[in-house]
Amino acid sequence: MDQRAEKLNRPGVPALDEILGVPFEVLDDGLIRVIDYMGDDQAIVQAARVSYGEGTKKTSDDRGLIRYLLRHRHTTPFEMCSLKLHIRVPMDAWRQWIRHRTASTNETSTRYSIAIDSSQTTAPDQWRVQAIDNKQGSDGWLDSKTGVELTQAETDFKNTARQVYNQRLEFGVAREQARKDLPLCTYTEAYWKMDLHNLLHFLALRMDPHAQKEIRDYATIIGREIVARWVPLAWEAFEDYRMGSVSYSRIEHKIMAAIGTGDMEDAMRIATDAGWLKPAKKGGFIRNRERDELTTKLKTLNLKVPWE
Ligand SMILES: Cc1cc2nc3c(=O)[nH]c(=O)nc-3n(C[C@H](O)[C@H](O)[C@H](O)COP(=O)(O)OP(=O)(O)OC[C@H]3O[C@@H](n4cnc5c(N)ncnc54)[C@H](O)[C@@H]3O)c2cc1C
Repeated sequence: MDQRAEKLNRPGVPALDEILGVPFEVLDDGLIRVIDYMGDDQAIVQAARVSYGEGTKKTSDDRGLIRYLLRHRHTTPFEMCSLKLHIRVPMDAWRQWIRHRTASTNETSTRYSIAIDSSQTTAPDQWRVQAIDNKQGSDGWLDSKTGVELTQAETDFKNTARQVYNQRLEFGVAREQARKDLPLCTYTEAYWKMDLHNLLHFLALRMDPHAQKEIRDYATIIGREIVARWVPLAWEAFEDYRMGSVSYSRIEHKIMAAIGTGDMEDAMRIATDAGWLKPAKKGGFIRNRERDELTTKLKTLNLKVPWE
């Protein structure tokens, strides 16, 4: 059949259609809903085959092709799929979210409308302690007695902030100015659309343990509940080659090859040449992040760490 005359049917993904518009709850009053989508695993395969000059010809190995594309970072076929979400998210998490510039976004305007009268509350057992090693992270939980106090203080503070806001509105202050002291825990809502290539990039960054827990909660639902249903083959490849994979730098690779042959002296020499083993005044070595990262990788593989 002449492809120019071919009648096409809109591709659909029944597993995703089932949850269209259905809210997934996140945090205490957040949500994610799928509003619309375009494409499926087949759309990725089809785009790749066009670029290989094979038209829309089918082969049995769609899974193998998608895995190849993802593994070798052939990105454009993944851009053939798009997802549109409706999200309700506290402004502080949204501030991180909106940094992903490759989305198309429309957010509720608090110049135009009254701000949503809901804000994220931290439960007494959910206050996290500042991590020592990772300046951007948290490590463990505060005790429950302190937690109760902090949550009470949070509630009082939020109530006051809302009263101040409402009072300004009652006096006729413009909404664009009245909003300026609303806390960052106030929920906002947005429509957010992104193609699958950039969405996987977003998920790789925001599902990662280094991402803040609140945005990670959202990303995990988008990944595990939505993308996994929508494009199961691409999701599987993403988990295998992106989320679950480990990369090794040139230096790491050389050190591991030396460890593999049992030549620990050579491994130490390579690490020393790389500047990873500078002696500390009190003995041992001064802290080196690259060395620490390889140490973690070696331990995961049950390999001996030459400098320990
Ligand atoms: C754990 C973590 C900690 C972070 N800490 C901080 C921080 O302390 N301070 C801070 O400011 N930010 C921080 N960020 C935000 C981070 O630096 C990025 O801005 C954010 O993750 C968006 O990533 P992106 O630019 O790759 O994504 P997108 O904006 O979606 O872009 C995707 C890709 O498109 C390309 N691209 C898009 N726009 C452009 C452009 N204008 N020019 C060139 N290429 C472009 C790039 O290749 C980019 O990787 C943090 C992010 C994470 C995940």
